[in-house]
Amino acid sequence: MKIAVTSLVEGENLFHFDSTKDSWLKELVQEISNQGYQFNTPLRVDANLTKVEPDFYLRGKLCCSVEQSCARCAEVFDLKVNSSFEVALANVPSGKLRSPELTEESEELDINFFEGNEIDLNPIITEQFFLSIPYQALCKPDCLGICQQCGSNLNTKMCQCAEKKSVTPFSVLQEVKLFKQE
Ligand SMILES: [Zn+2]
Ligand SMILES: [Zn+2]
Repeated sequence: MKIAVTSLVEGENLFHFDSTKDSWLKELVQEISNQGYQFNTPLRVDANLTKVEPDFYLRGKLCCSVEQSCARCAEVFDLKVNSSFEVALANVPSGKLRSPELTEESEELDINFFEGNEIDLNPIITEQFFLSIPYQALCKPDCLGICQQCGSNLNTKMCQCAEKKSVTPFSVLQEVKLFKQE
């Protein structure tokens, strides 16, 4: 989705996108899906593109839910993504976008550059989607994970391994003594 800078009014410009209605966003969801993410709901994007000559700012919100495996218990769950983002946009002359100096500056200052008279939302939204997925997603904040010994999912079944683990050399010795007494 490319937005022509000339179509923007001074100040705030509000956009609402929905992957069930906007074909470019549907395609973007398809591209992300191809990288192994399964969407359980449509992707919705609210964007507020603010023009304060000569600068542009994009504030937005991403809403969707995607299937994830829990980093602790490995169960597949529905991760609700509801994330806000803010990006500063700076215009560069045509053909300069891929220059190494700009790439470096972009990383240092957290600025997205756009070329010519159009702001391309696709790479920004794709990047923000990936930033909103936690590196280690958990099915719930207090997920108990899997027992290292018996493999039980401790959220659904409490195993006895923790008690057995309290076997110390001393307790073993006691058992031996008891055995001798018998
Ligand atoms: Zn879990
Ligand atoms: Zn166990």
